[in-house]
Amino acid sequence: MSKVFTRDYWQDVLSALKPEGRHFIDSEHRASASGETFIRARPMDGKPGPAIARGNAADIDTAVTSARAAFESGVWRRKEPLEKKKIMLKWADLIRTHGEELAMLETLDVGKPIMASLNVDVRLCADGIQFYGEMIDKLYDEIAPTGPNARALVRKVPLGVVGVITPWNYPMIIDAWKLGPAIAAGNSVVLKPAEQSSLSALRLASLAVEAGLPAGVFNVVTGYGEETGKPLALHMDVDMIAFTGSTEVGKLIMGYAAQSNVKRVALELGGKSPLVVFEDADLDAAASAVAWGCFYNSGETCHASTRLVVQRSVQDALIAKIEAVTKSDIALKHPLDPAAQIGALIEETHLEKVLSLIAAGEKEGARRAFGAERVMTESGGYYVSPGVFVDMTNDMSLARQEIFGPVLAAIAFDTEEEALRIANDTIYGLAGAVFTKDMDRAHRFSEAIHAGTVWINTYDMSNFATPFGGFKQSGFGRDRSVHAIDKYCDYKTIWQQFG
Ligand code: NAP
Repeated sequence: MSKVFTRDYWQDVLSALKPEGRHFIDSEHRASASGETFIRARPMDGKPGPAIARGNAADIDTAVTSARAAFESGVWRRKEPLEKKKIMLKWADLIRTHGEELAMLETLDVGKPIMASLNVDVRLCADGIQFYGEMIDKLYDEIAPTGPNARALVRKVPLGVVGVITPWNYPMIIDAWKLGPAIAAGNSVVLKPAEQSSLSALRLASLAVEAGLPAGVFNVVTGYGEETGKPLALHMDVDMIAFTGSTEVGKLIMGYAAQSNVKRVALELGGKSPLVVFEDADLDAAASAVAWGCFYNSGETCHASTRLVVQRSVQDALIAKIEAVTKSDIALKHPLDPAAQIGALIEETHLEKVLSLIAAGEKEGARRAFGAERVMTESGGYYVSPGVFVDMTNDMSLARQEIFGPVLAAIAFDTEEEALRIANDTIYGLAGAVFTKDMDRAHRFSEAIHAGTVWINTYDMSNFATPFGGFKQSGFGRDRSVHAIDKYCDYKTIWQQFG
């Protein structure tokens, strides 16, 4: 019989939770060198969360030293591939076994609905670790074409110490996108999670060690970006930074790499993705895709479909359908309510930013079709209802800035050329979509939208087999798929002369 989850059940899980907030270095939890901690308000109700170690450059240095020692000793990278695979698969299993605990840590930190944390975030995190674990004994090197008296081996070798810096919107999933390939390739990692989402990262690390990952291969240092992320990115003994976050901080990361040891960087950055709907499209399918694409995770999604580019003749009909889908299917509720489809925004300052962008949009002439208001204030948490703005042009701030809240900007067009120009008129290039029954046009558009992922008559389909990442100021380098391994390796050529 399948388990029935109720709000009381999850309340009991929360009450029993004893979150660990200290760094994880060299296989053990440690307080910060400074002894300092910080406490955040819980997004779901504004109550104080657990104390988290406030790291600084000294903690980063200790973690990098541990990661370097593990790498140089070869304790992980020289292990038999089959053994490494078994450890990573066990790690994935442990993530699943501890799924409810991990889900609660994630919901406590970031305010997303508990059932989404369990069924989406935990599941995809475990699947990601498993995907790369399974690759370990299937990675071959090359022999280059040379003359008969020589042999040149082209080896793919790990880089060394990889610094991973991640955001708070899908912490466990994005951690797995980077930890999976980086560790499978034989590197050691120092992870700096967002200050808002430390808990799941710390638990992932202790589960990795329980699965058999040797000490020092995976370390976590918690704390603020300026105090921990910056020294990690500036560290002279870190070989790479794999970063997901805002374009603004991504630019800083490139600067830190240049100022220090020319470490390589991979950047997964922001987005302002267009979803183009032509008048011949299936409007019911489009409405559902727009609503879920923009409002899922309360709009705190890098590839959220925040710009609806819609043919003028069907704009009103489509907006009415989006409103109906949103109100009937996308329940905004307390995150511990199993019926919640979306929950709280990450923190009060972010709530204020979302509300001020909405106010600025209205001042510029955007008209509210529905929603986009602060709600559930009595909970003490930070909630905004999903909403749509119309009468918009693509130069308005709501159409240009990444809001990271449940707010859709609808922009009308008359011709295909105009639709394409609006779709591509953004500094970002993470994702896009086109809805039309004309497959020639769908093909033209999917080629012409300048983005790392384009969907036709759907939105947000993805799996581990497909690369994910951006063009333009959405960054470079790809997470997911077999290709992600490449960025955590380098080629080494070994020549041998015979006779
Ligand atoms: P953020 O403010 O850029 O922070 C990302 C990470 O960088 C956090 O761990 C942050 O630590 C750290 N950081 C901040 N300042 C730093 C500095 N000076 N040096 C080094 N590290 C620093 O982004 P966020 O608000 O957490 O996440 C939202 C952003 O992530 C959005 O722009 C979203 O589009 C993007 N994102 C992109 C993808 C993708 O795949 N393309 C996926 C998810 C999210 P603190 O939290 O402690 O400041």
